[in-house]
Amino acid sequence: MHIPVAVGTVYIVGAGPGDPGLITVRGRECLAAADVVVYDRLVGDRLLALAKPGARLIYVGKQADHHTLKQGQINDLLVTEAEAGHVVVRLKGGDPFVFGRGGEEVEALAARGLPFVVVPGITSAIAGPAYAGIPVTHRGLATSVTIVTAHEDPTKDESQLDWQRLAQGADTLVFLMGVERLDAVAAELVRHGRPAATPAALVRWASRPEQETLVATLGDIGARAAEAGSQPPAVLVVGEVVRLRERLRWFDSLPLFGKRVLVTRTREQASALSALLAAKGARVWELPTIAIVPPASFEPAQRALDNLAEYDWVVFTSANGVERALDYLMMRGKDARVFANCLIAAIGPATAAALAQHGLRADYVPSDFVAEAVLAGLLARGVAGKRVLLARAAQARVILAEGLRQAGADVDDVALYDTALPRDVDPEAVRLLREDAFDVITFTSSSTVRNFADLCSREHVQSTLARATVACIGPITVRTAREAGLRVDVQASEYTVPGLVRSLEKHFAALGPARDR
Ligand code: SAH
Repeated sequence: MHIPVAVGTVYIVGAGPGDPGLITVRGRECLAAADVVVYDRLVGDRLLALAKPGARLIYVGKQADHHTLKQGQINDLLVTEAEAGHVVVRLKGGDPFVFGRGGEEVEALAARGLPFVVVPGITSAIAGPAYAGIPVTHRGLATSVTIVTAHEDPTKDESQLDWQRLAQGADTLVFLMGVERLDAVAAELVRHGRPAATPAALVRWASRPEQETLVATLGDIGARAAEAGSQPPAVLVVGEVVRLRERLRWFDSLPLFGKRVLVTRTREQASALSALLAAKGARVWELPTIAIVPPASFEPAQRALDNLAEYDWVVFTSANGVERALDYLMMRGKDARVFANCLIAAIGPATAAALAQHGLRADYVPSDFVAEAVLAGLLARGVAGKRVLLARAAQARVILAEGLRQAGADVDDVALYDTALPRDVDPEAVRLLREDAFDVITFTSSSTVRNFADLCSREHVQSTLARATVACIGPITVRTAREAGLRVDVQASEYTVPGLVRSLEKHFAALGPARDR
């Protein structure tokens, strides 16, 4: 259901704890409709990207000590923008009413009679522990939970916190804004009767790929956090439920958790691999090293595609080739029926899937996704005297055409597209490359390898990356990578994108899981 969003209204929206997937559906709708987005420090950039083009994004970031805007000024800003008739979203980390001062902002709007809507969010007080594998309540272990601000100095006399009641009250205690006062908070709880042996966990940057968890006891968590140099933002969970992490840990034990992965592909193709890697916990940067461009001459391809009925076999060796061919046929007012008289071969499942998108079923897909295997399969089916169309990239390998000709086939090898270096590359990815900061670099074709090497020299990056695990999709890509001077650590055992991800998982599983500090 799409909720209409009204002008002159302020939407107080919870952004969730950090993972951009953890905003609500309503929150996202509001964000997409907003003219003005007023946001805090804990709101990630990837959420802001959901705002409509042209929306004004106003940062009123709250750092622990120096607020960029005072709360009163933020309230005034919301009032001014709403009175000007804008759709205003006030985007706040976690839930707006859990230590978010959302209540104060709403009071200011209510006082002026301005309409507002509250869109709750997933609070870090509950999601933080959950992402560390700690349920805040659990049958038999904890039937109550208290969420507390640790912002106050517990040693001050005027502290509003009743430490006695707190220490002996709820089974689970969750402290927000507590990193700086961790030692004092833990000491105060022990002084008021919580056993020093009570398990406690500090979860930093919960739900993000950089999440860190420190498990200790009330007695030693202060010292352990100081030793580890723990920084905000983090939530502190205290109680028996912390022990459940041992069994229920899930997020930071994902096979590629926290790994920085560089995906080199064409801009069009990168997202499938990136999404798979992210689902395994990786932090992904995309560096398109290839732009798909028209070939020097499209005429041979045109001639072939206009006369498909003359061919016995049409061979596609990439999804890109399929797309270019079908684009052309559509433009000519044709459809899949022009393939009625030919058999179709696809080099692998991604190419076959691209064909299927257009209602075409490949008659032959080899079990090894390389040109040699396509050749062997076609030879086994008998190609002497047959007309074969190879519909491919410019500069594709010659082995297929040569092998078929030697077996007596009449081969047309036509270029549907060419590849080139892209113009705009992500400067952050280039910086990380220069710093050799990637854990993994993936290559899914020989041309990406070659263009990567060119890109490296253009951007002054040492292409002999010392630290990164280099992962290639298949044997040909491996060979090209070695020729380009790269050390290859992982070769996919199945030459597909999911196969590449599985082989990476296995590689890291063999190195053992990340330990808690
Ligand atoms: N309204 C927010 C809390 C704002 S107060 C919410 O409901 O989550 C800011 C505090 O929230 C931080 O000091 C930290 O304790 C906690 N916090 C917010 N996001 C966090 C995250 N991703 N990981 C750990 N703690 C987080």
